[in-house]
Amino acid sequence: MEEIQVDPPQAYEVRIKIICTSLCHTDVTFWKLDSGPLARFPRILGHESVGLVESIGEHVDGFKQGDVVLPVFHPNCEECKDCKSSKSNWCARYANDSISNTRRYGMASRFKDSTGEDIHHFLFVSSFSEYTVVDIAHLVKISPDIPVQKAALLSCGVSTGVGAAWKVANVEEGSTVAVFGLGAVGLAVAEGARLRGAAKIIGVDLNPDKFELGKKFGFTDFVNPTLCGEKKVSEVIKEMTGGGVDYSFECVGLPSILSEAFISTRTGSGKTVMLGMGKHAAPISLGSFDLLSGRTICGSLFGGLKSKLDIPVLVDHYLKKELNLDSFITHELKFQEINKAFELLEEGKSLRCIIWMDK
Ligand code: NAD
Ligand code: ZN
Repeated sequence: MEEIQVDPPQAYEVRIKIICTSLCHTDVTFWKLDSGPLARFPRILGHESVGLVESIGEHVDGFKQGDVVLPVFHPNCEECKDCKSSKSNWCARYANDSISNTRRYGMASRFKDSTGEDIHHFLFVSSFSEYTVVDIAHLVKISPDIPVQKAALLSCGVSTGVGAAWKVANVEEGSTVAVFGLGAVGLAVAEGARLRGAAKIIGVDLNPDKFELGKKFGFTDFVNPTLCGEKKVSEVIKEMTGGGVDYSFECVGLPSILSEAFISTRTGSGKTVMLGMGKHAAPISLGSFDLLSGRTICGSLFGGLKSKLDIPVLVDHYLKKELNLDSFITHELKFQEINKAFELLEEGKSLRCIIWMDK
């Protein structure tokens, strides 16, 4: 913990007082990076949070002091060709840049340490700080009716999983689904698939504790890779589904699991969605005939959602008691205890740990 200076917001930026934040596996992955262009330190991690607008810069429309807002790592400028198209959630104006501190101002940081040295931002939102400065392309105003700790989940992990089932795979009623990795992202995929009426949702994880938890999110079956004997997980899944699942989702971040998820889908029509974020953007390997025979594969950031358009829809589903957000919160801690949140996630004991700034 150290005291820092957080600069006032510049044009198109908002300074936010963070109310609560949570830890996603992507924070852990970036924290552990020791080389390459993405390993930038010192840095303020954190990208799942909720806050209050404290002050606004010039040319900021639609946000005012006191608004409850969700900072979102994936941009949505609403003006570029891709933001205006319904084909993807890529923002042509800002999404190509993953190195800068702020998208409009390049490497300029809004954080300084006690000696006046810059501190790097993380994913343009940096929420492990009492105050942060965020570009309005990364900001969504939300209804004050949703409890803030539930809303925080929608700024990354849960939206990514639910969105992937809804928008990217477009899972339909009666279909079969396999999810590899039952963290918050994988469990949210199941929640999304359950809401779309999937008939069979198979969870694959090394940690058997996740299976009991998974039942709350609509999983109907489980496979533990360590108990498959000579068989590959994909063979077991093919046996369980009479030839392979309609949809599979990789939610761990390992290329070997992606290959297994891909081959678990049905020949001719199976679709695989990659959500896991591995270290150093490692290459992936797929059997060319498995692809030629009609399977498809794609990746997705933020579950294909356009934050400004789709997060309010998810909030609405929660308020109508259709979307289960409550079961994702397994722990709550004070900001001073944040290191414990890293331990809990790494030991596989938590899904999402809410970290309160003021308690
Ligand atoms: P998590 O740590 O909570 O969950 C990961 C799960 O994978 C754990 O349950 C773990 O037991 C399981 N696992 C680990 N190795 C396994 C293996 N070999 N076989 C089967 N299961 C295994 O993580 P999370 O917060 O749910 O995030 C999951 C992944 O999604 C991470 O890679 C994260 O970076 C990524 N992510 C991507 C996006 C996106 O926009 N695409 C958004 C959020 C998170
Ligand atoms: Zn995340």
